[in-house]
Amino acid sequence: MRHDPECIFCRIVSGDIPGQPVWEDDLVIAIRDIQPQAPAHILVLPREHIRSIHELTDSDEALAAAVFRACRQVAAKENLDQHGYRVVTNVGEWGGQTVDHLHFHVLGGRQLRSLG
Ligand code: 5GP
Ligand code: ZN
Repeated sequence: MRHDPECIFCRIVSGDIPGQPVWEDDLVIAIRDIQPQAPAHILVLPREHIRSIHELTDSDEALAAAVFRACRQVAAKENLDQHGYRVVTNVGEWGGQTVDHLHFHVLGGRQLRSLG
């Protein structure tokens, strides 16, 4: 499994930095964002260090399915499924990515503005 000792999310995954997962399985963990942008703001990330969705390959199909399953389960656990929620992933500098370890923001608990 790819691991980058300099990466903050790899360090949370390995337990080097404490981060209490709100949900986890063999492939994925979910943690609360340190700077929440909504009443519920959870980050769903693979345990493995992958830079962004742009680096996913066909061999990561099971991982991609596991990440989306985790997003659904986190949303249900946080009671976001009744009113709805948003799942976002940023890619690279212009995409606004600040941590180069693939993660999906699960946001909810308030009305979110349309992106359009
Ligand atoms: P990005 O900007 O890369 O899409 O999202 C990175 C997110 O990680 C940001 O929302 C930021 O608040 C969050 N974050 C950065 N460092 C930490 C940390 O050490 N712990 C947690 N839980 N979240 C972090
Ligand atoms: Zn990492």
